[in-house]
Amino acid sequence: MHQERIARVAQQLAQTDHDIIFVAPGADLRYLTGYDALPLERLTCLAVRTTGEAWMIVPTLEKPSALAHKVPDMGIELLDWQETQNPYSLLMSAVGQPQRPLVNNLMWVEKAFGIQGASGTNVELAGKLLSDIREVKTPDEVTYLHEAGAAIDQVHMNMHKWLRPGRTEREVGKDIAEAILAAGHVTVDFVIVASGPNGASPHHEVSDRIIQAGEPVVVDIGGTMASGYCSDCTRMYVCGEPPAEYLEHYAVLMAAQEAARLHARPGVSCESVDAAARNVLESAGLGEQFIHRTGHGIGMETHEEPYIVIGNKSLLVPGHAFSIEPGFYFAGKYGARIEDIVTCTEVGIKSANNTTRELVVL
Ligand code: ZN
Ligand code: ZN
Repeated sequence: MHQERIARVAQQLAQTDHDIIFVAPGADLRYLTGYDALPLERLTCLAVRTTGEAWMIVPTLEKPSALAHKVPDMGIELLDWQETQNPYSLLMSAVGQPQRPLVNNLMWVEKAFGIQGASGTNVELAGKLLSDIREVKTPDEVTYLHEAGAAIDQVHMNMHKWLRPGRTEREVGKDIAEAILAAGHVTVDFVIVASGPNGASPHHEVSDRIIQAGEPVVVDIGGTMASGYCSDCTRMYVCGEPPAEYLEHYAVLMAAQEAARLHARPGVSCESVDAAARNVLESAGLGEQFIHRTGHGIGMETHEEPYIVIGNKSLLVPGHAFSIEPGFYFAGKYGARIEDIVTCTEVGIKSANNTTRELVVL
């Protein structure tokens, strides 16, 4: 599988006027090789030529880890460098003089400049070369995303155990973080518990604010599974009776989220999925309160291509995986968001998140 992925990169590269791509640790490297090397100050880097030849340089200290991940079995030539050697010169002498090198988007600038210096030629960004490959998921990857979705659903289904008035957002968030791991994730990537006015800030995390009765609470949570694939799901809660006006807005939001889910299918543009949700909120006078894009792709990163946003004219194809998460935000008062991860099928979408989208009264 990884050998095929590297071969795809080589093929894509051959369609450009670039002759080599360098890939640093992170989601791109893990996707291509299965090696989840940590981004460290010491250089670890994969290089792939248009011919399909591939090399990976690692610090000698990391060599056992690279071997444990079977890097040489993928047809990758494994090089290692000692503490006092210059890894960039070693890498260049192995791969030969690059003419027009690309570096992956998430490479640290320090490493990109190291490659540029050693190769004596300017590096350019890989741009969409890798994300075009990564954004269309294989059936196995779709399964991993649905497993991640089921795991985070389990946490939402147990929210009544932790979320109640009198507790702080931080206390509730700590319990949720433990539950994210207990549900099968290997890392907790984010926990948002945004009560009352904090809900008006889409990326509020947790605070020492005490949750009050009658306040809507935004709970947006996610983690990464052992497979490397991520979960991300938002549900809305209220302890007691919410304001009547809030319930009216919430009904509109549910309709907006559903409109986008019904609209999304192969052949429609990413921006039209955004418009499907946005039109419903705008017609109800809530357009100004919907202050972000409708969604983002997801896979080995929580946020990746394709982005469900105005201006993205790319068409959905089976295998795309992304969030549908419209919201409304009233500064100083409250906010709301409903978020599902969905995967594009041959005829529509399948939701990885399946707990109720209604406002959950605890
Ligand atoms: Zn989210
Ligand atoms: Zn999201």
